[in-house]
Amino acid sequence: MAKYAITNSCGHSRSYQLYGPGKDRERKTAWLRTVPCPDCKEAPAAEAKPDEALVARYLESLRADPDPEGAIRDLLAEMQGPDVPEHKRALALAVIDRYREAV
Ligand SMILES: [Zn+2]
Repeated sequence: MAKYAITNSCGHSRSYQLYGPGKDRERKTAWLRTVPCPDCKEAPAAEAKPDEALVARYLESLRADPDPEGAIRDLLAEMQGPDVPEHKRALALAVIDRYREAV
């Protein structure tokens, strides 16, 4: 039983407790270098969750829009782009969801 300092694919260094024969440990360390650390593995899911304050702000401007349905159509069309980052898409969809719920 030993602790190994390993740098994961995300660039974070951590110490891992590894068990088993030397060969297995080598394989485990090699594998750990190719995957992100546990913190970074969690991060994408958290990022996909839109910021509540931002959602509220966009929702307000959508409600103030003289043509909210048109604004939603434009927004959805914009979200079709291949370069739209995931968090932006999640935010837009959350705003539209919230708006529809309230109507
Ligand atoms: Zn990391």
